[in-house]
Amino acid sequence: MRISELISTSKVHMSCEIFPPKVFEKVEEAKSVVGEICKLHPSYVSVTYGATGKTPHFTQEMSECIQDCGVVALNHLTCINDTKSKVQVVLDNLKKVGVNNILALRGDLPEGVDFPGEDHFRYASELIEAIKLRGDFCVGAACYPEGHPEAPSRDQDLIYLRMKQDAGADFMTTQMFFDNNILYQFLYRALQKGITIPVTAGVMPVTNANQIRRINSLSSASIPQRFMSILDRFGSDPESMKKAGIAYATDQIIDLIANGVNNIHLYTMNKPDIAKAIIDNLGCILDTSYE
Ligand code: FAD
Repeated sequence: MRISELISTSKVHMSCEIFPPKVFEKVEEAKSVVGEICKLHPSYVSVTYGATGKTPHFTQEMSECIQDCGVVALNHLTCINDTKSKVQVVLDNLKKVGVNNILALRGDLPEGVDFPGEDHFRYASELIEAIKLRGDFCVGAACYPEGHPEAPSRDQDLIYLRMKQDAGADFMTTQMFFDNNILYQFLYRALQKGITIPVTAGVMPVTNANQIRRINSLSSASIPQRFMSILDRFGSDPESMKKAGIAYATDQIIDLIANGVNNIHLYTMNKPDIAKAIIDNLGCILDTSYE
């Protein structure tokens, strides 16, 4: 099923994200995580793509495993580290195995490395256009409620985002954010720029203090004072931090749904127990349609 069709109904949709194994020896372990997450009946499960593009087959294998569990898969694909022809091979392989939902991303170059050249796609919008020409794929794109860190301004970032929609993107998934007001303002500004495709809100449950360091290095998501207090108070007590992180994410999701955001993507990163705790907390809220 195409994710754009799935998420355009008035039902609340909760999706989850996993990352693929890096080595063959970890494939079975990763498949068992997929099995646990699929038992929670998410609307779809996305699989990240190694930034270096060295192990696309593991991302594809996880996507196939998700579909074998009867759940829709969203296969991430980055382009900056691969030649255009290698990207086409990855696309043809996905088509062959029936994976037709792709999150099209630029990815990041290793620090200090320049753009490799014309045989590479430079921006996600170029990749989206190429995917659409290659097959009947449903294509998602990334968006950044606080602006992409390299963008000259938030406004310019939205102009580039509109280019992704114009290139054929069918839906968008946001970078994580910890203050819902940032998302609401972003959605309003995106609409003003004519961005009308569905947006899925990415929520990251922070359940240990180390995650915050990683979040700081990977994204520009700002941490509100309310969340800092939780970290200060519970950061050194793993069990309490886990409970508080699950409660914070649950609270964020309830507020999103109450404000009409029906599509939520959980950055659960291979932790089925955390996804389960949040889904259990939400209970019947997830089974209801809200017009
Ligand atoms: P783009 O849309 O190409 O934007 C990159 C930068 O270029 C932005 O600053 C933008 O403003 C600017 N820009 C865009 N178009 C133009 C233009 N025409 N001219 C000038 N400037 C332009 N990374 C991974 O390696 N693997 C993953 O699986 C992965 N999954 C992700 C999932 C989500 C939901 C998100 C939000 C991010 C994910 N990332 C992943 C990280 C992502 O690859 C990085 O954030 C990357 O820096 C930008 O990717 P993009 O697709 O948004 O790039």
